[in-house]
Amino acid sequence: MAKVLVIGCGGVAQVAIKKCCMLDEVFTEMCIASRTVSKCDELKRQLEGKTKTKLTTAKVNADDKGELCALIKSYKPELVMNIALPYQDLTIMDACLECGVNYMDTANYEPEDTSDPKWRERYEKRCEKEGFSAYFDYSYQWEYAEKFKKAGLTALLGSGFDPGVTQAYCAYAQKHLFDKIETIDILDCNGGDHGYPFATNFNPEINLREVSAPGSYWENGKWVEVPAMSIKREYDFDGVGKKDMYLLHHEEIESLAKNIKGVKRIRFFMTFGQSYLTHMKCLENVGMLSTEPIMFEGREIVPIQFLKALLPDPASLGPRTKGKTNIGCIFTGEKDGKKKTAYIYNICDHEECFKEVGSQAVAYTTGVPAMIGALMLLTGKWDKAGVYTVEEFDPDPYMDALNKYGLPWQICENPVLVD
Ligand code: NDP
Repeated sequence: MAKVLVIGCGGVAQVAIKKCCMLDEVFTEMCIASRTVSKCDELKRQLEGKTKTKLTTAKVNADDKGELCALIKSYKPELVMNIALPYQDLTIMDACLECGVNYMDTANYEPEDTSDPKWRERYEKRCEKEGFSAYFDYSYQWEYAEKFKKAGLTALLGSGFDPGVTQAYCAYAQKHLFDKIETIDILDCNGGDHGYPFATNFNPEINLREVSAPGSYWENGKWVEVPAMSIKREYDFDGVGKKDMYLLHHEEIESLAKNIKGVKRIRFFMTFGQSYLTHMKCLENVGMLSTEPIMFEGREIVPIQFLKALLPDPASLGPRTKGKTNIGCIFTGEKDGKKKTAYIYNICDHEECFKEVGSQAVAYTTGVPAMIGALMLLTGKWDKAGVYTVEEFDPDPYMDALNKYGLPWQICENPVLVD
């Protein structure tokens, strides 16, 4: 019996909302709020008659704490599910604190305007101190830990697939499979084909910022940064086949390095086809990936936002995408004094996802764990005040829920390792 406020109604949020509505005995009331309220109204219309969840909609600009507080105070939810963009994380956390409500999201904070001098000053210090130059890091949200603890509230950060499920896999490996984990390789493979020459599977702006940035990994207590796409490996993925994958910086490396005691190396690889990389390089070379505003015919535009307007909406890829995703973690370490390896992963079929919820597998593999994160908080399975990432909670109920609600996982002992 819970009342939740969902912010955002894009590709990922629509899956999370549909999955919550399938569990209407828990998610009894839900307000879907976003900038473009017509999208929320359309989703409500689609769901009515198919769920007992009592749905309402609202228009909110989540960059505005005042608007958020007014909505939270009038709706009175137990939990705010932030499935908008990482740009809104801090204003939504501020509003949750002010109104005394629990919080969760699917991606860590990153600023929309990376040319803001105040933000840049802190960013440049962090690049120098930590040794990685991604625009996002956990420090902004971790700074809320004491305030959430004092208020007796929980903030669950990054409950998508990666971040999210990958950290549950790590917590599970630490709890059940290993006495000591030495290395973690997170492999994110999308073997799907949508038939477009170039499109991104989730928000293009966030996606292109992430993959065009330098890669980095954690080794022996520090970050090692390398030029974008400069470390390439081939891997034969179960259910997908051989794919090229590239080392990227990824947010969960930062929290796992803190929470998986004694880990020596953590890397993250994602698969990309040659066509994607060629398009991305070309767009980057002509300045279309820039986040800095430029003047065009008398008005200011941000090149990457203009590009987003031209690219297919990720939420529209569902009916055209065929193939499978395979995302998981390969561990090496020790158990009972012996060397051991294990690979925990999920295979998800784009067409099956479309049949179930009308979306492709990238939105599905993110939206389902968002629902599961909310379920953990609302049912009290995860219950501690403060700001936490997924691996800081007991993985068992989350791993059970993954099997139950559409993302079954398997363990392969002695997998092929990545060199
Ligand atoms: P979309 O761009 O499809 O949707 C974003 C939604 O947020 C839209 O409904 C948008 O409204 C709304 N929104 C944006 N700005 C505001 C604002 N200021 N106020 C209110 N609503 C706003 O994004 P996705 O669904 O692809 O991604 C959602 C989140 O999931 C992102 O944070 C992304 O980084 C994360 N993600 C996480 C993954 C993981 O594995 N952990 C994987 C993939 C994505 P409008 O329609 O008006 O634009």
